[in-house]
Amino acid sequence: MILILLGPPGAGKGTQARLIERDYGVVQLSTGDMLRELAGQDSELGQEVRQVLEAGQLVSDDLIARMIADRIGREDCRNGFLLDGFPRTLVQAHLLDEMLDRKGLTLDAVIRLAVDEEVLVERITGRFTCAKCGEGYHDTFKVPRVPGVCDICGGTQFTRRSDDNEETVRNRFAAYREQTAPILPYYEEKGLLREVDALQDIDVVADEIRGVLGEPQAAAAAGA
Ligand code: AMP
Repeated sequence: MILILLGPPGAGKGTQARLIERDYGVVQLSTGDMLRELAGQDSELGQEVRQVLEAGQLVSDDLIARMIADRIGREDCRNGFLLDGFPRTLVQAHLLDEMLDRKGLTLDAVIRLAVDEEVLVERITGRFTCAKCGEGYHDTFKVPRVPGVCDICGGTQFTRRSDDNEETVRNRFAAYREQTAPILPYYEEKGLLREVDALQDIDVVADEIRGVLGEPQAAAAAGA
């Protein structure tokens, strides 16, 4: 099964991607995570990427396309993959089509997490992540059961993304509106676009996504 998860920053792409990965056995490929890793490296490219991320702008289509092409060719993507944060421009959508064509693969669905932008600022600026296992939390909406201790792995170190501040978030929204939103009609015309109201509780959103994809076992039996 090959999926795209689309939506503005803070729509819950990362959270839902982790659930889909767990339930459907597909690998989550987050271009944001890949770039943050690159940005942490002490190299010229690392520094370049770091500046783009801090400004809330998009890195070049060419770099992203090379990263994805390399990643989807690996063994762990054989059962399928879920693209989180890619494609983000129409050019990237076309590049993805070419990549999939070359590999004889087809896209199963594009899930759009629909949300109201203003509500998202609160969501984004309050989020943090377990440094050990990557589980996501929020100051208001999802605090760990025991304060300071990860529910999943017991880790006690948490991180916040440096681009989760209000100014950068506003720029990231603008980039989404101007460059990413225009790809929605492209997938709509192909009959692949499915919309889910992502302002609902995490579990309800996950249920609706399951409604779109089919129950995990049935989806696997169908060869997805
Ligand atoms: P995300 O974690 O998906 O919100 O991505 C964080 C940042 O990484 C974005 O604000 C962009 O600067 C960059 N980024 C992630 N994915 C892409 C992409 N497909 N194309 C260009 N830039 C990207």
